[in-house]
Amino acid sequence: MQSYLKHYINGAWVESQGGRRHEVIDPATEQPCTEITLGTAADVDAAVAAARTAFESWSQSSVDERKALLARIIEEYKKRIPDLAKSMAQEMGAPMGLAMAAQAPTGLAHFATTMKALDSFVFEETVGKAKVVHEPLGVVAMITPWNWPLNQICAKVAPALAAGDTMILKPSEEAPGCAAILAEILDAAGVPAGVFNLVNGDGPGVGAALSSHRGVDMVSFTGSTRAGVAVAQAAATTVKRVHQELGGKAPNLVLEGADLGTVLPPTVAGVLANSGQSCIAPTRLLVHDSQVADATQIVKSMMEQTKVGNPLEDGQHIGPVVNKAQYEKIQGLIQSAIDEGATLVTGGPGRPDGRNSGFFIQPTLFTDVTPDMRIAREETFGPVATITSYGDLEEAVRVANDTEYGLSATISGDPAKAAEVAPRLRAGLVTINSWSPDIAAPFGGYKQSGNGRENGKYGLTDFMEVKTIVGAPA
Ligand code: NAD
Repeated sequence: MQSYLKHYINGAWVESQGGRRHEVIDPATEQPCTEITLGTAADVDAAVAAARTAFESWSQSSVDERKALLARIIEEYKKRIPDLAKSMAQEMGAPMGLAMAAQAPTGLAHFATTMKALDSFVFEETVGKAKVVHEPLGVVAMITPWNWPLNQICAKVAPALAAGDTMILKPSEEAPGCAAILAEILDAAGVPAGVFNLVNGDGPGVGAALSSHRGVDMVSFTGSTRAGVAVAQAAATTVKRVHQELGGKAPNLVLEGADLGTVLPPTVAGVLANSGQSCIAPTRLLVHDSQVADATQIVKSMMEQTKVGNPLEDGQHIGPVVNKAQYEKIQGLIQSAIDEGATLVTGGPGRPDGRNSGFFIQPTLFTDVTPDMRIAREETFGPVATITSYGDLEEAVRVANDTEYGLSATISGDPAKAAEVAPRLRAGLVTINSWSPDIAAPFGGYKQSGNGRENGKYGLTDFMEVKTIVGAPA
């Protein structure tokens, strides 16, 4: 079992002040794989004090010093990719292939794109007669989820370091191992003591203590809309900046006449990758009446060809979902679709054939799904796709936007026609004939999917304060 019982505070691994031991369960074996300590408010106080002190000097560092530090982090990070991948495979079930090709490298990509963004970032400009300056924001608390754990962490740590901020990270208690390894990477790269701190814990404990803390200037949160609202409420009395990257329920608007055999595989792949546990997974297929039968055959075949297997084994299979609670939630949603009258095409309730343990879900497809059904409205976070038919483009756009979320939307079909439809979709990301974002471009949600943007110069901007100086000599 991996053991990370200490927090990383002020440049050293330290015992918790009164925390309790917590076991992370491997979702493939249902056995403990990692132990951590769920921290306390006293641990948070110590980390915030270290970050406040470190801010005095780190906020004064030059851009060149920050770039040099990011370059050293990139070198140290590269050495640990296999360790990071294995940790995520064990704790949250991403198969090693995906963990090595995507889960671990995306974190590295955030350091690289942030470094590049620093090159062209405009720290000072003249507006009217005033000088406008982007300055370090202060102490940032970062609260992150388990589904793309390192991606979400690095999308915050990289720009915060580059901006001259100091930080306390509380990773998900479901996948804390990669955060501990990242702390080792940052330590090896020479991040000054107190600039980066790691306090493990759960949401109601460490998460809530960070959100309401007077010594914290910003909370950058990624996770469910439920927890994001709780963070914002806890943060409100101290008027700190709250950045929320929340849930999603992305449509896949398949344009009438689309060449289904070409456009569905690269978009429906987003429902299967990571066992469907992506906030931008385009699970809601909207298909013209005339093409429902053909689309159903293609997606059914994709689902049936997808094998489910052990995350630590090589191969193209998908792994389990992260834990028992998610397994049961997805089973409940599959059952709700059956009860509400959707047609089950393939997959369905229970584990895949031959498995009687592990949190494995059958790749599942429903048709005859209407926009009011729970399966069409609630975030599923499993390998489950739905097909809803539409009569014309107006109806398709209306159904695509008929969600409380607005993180991303996919369009499948002629790219020129799709580009005309893109402005009509109320989402922060529109992907045409693919489902992945561009890591250098802004990422964030409309509506209840959040506010603020991460990545590149937009990420840098959100982790900085803006000062106007009137009367300074030109
Ligand atoms: P979650 O909301 O349960 O937990 C996320 C983090 O918040 C964890 O670290 C958790 O400990 C903490 N937390 C929980 N309750 C809290 C509270 N009251 N106060 C402070 N912190 C609290 O989410 P999850 O299950 O870990 O992740 C899945 C969710 O994350 C999905 O809804 C998914 O869509 C969303 N997500 C969004 C993005 C994005 O960029 N928009 C990216 C990935 C995941």
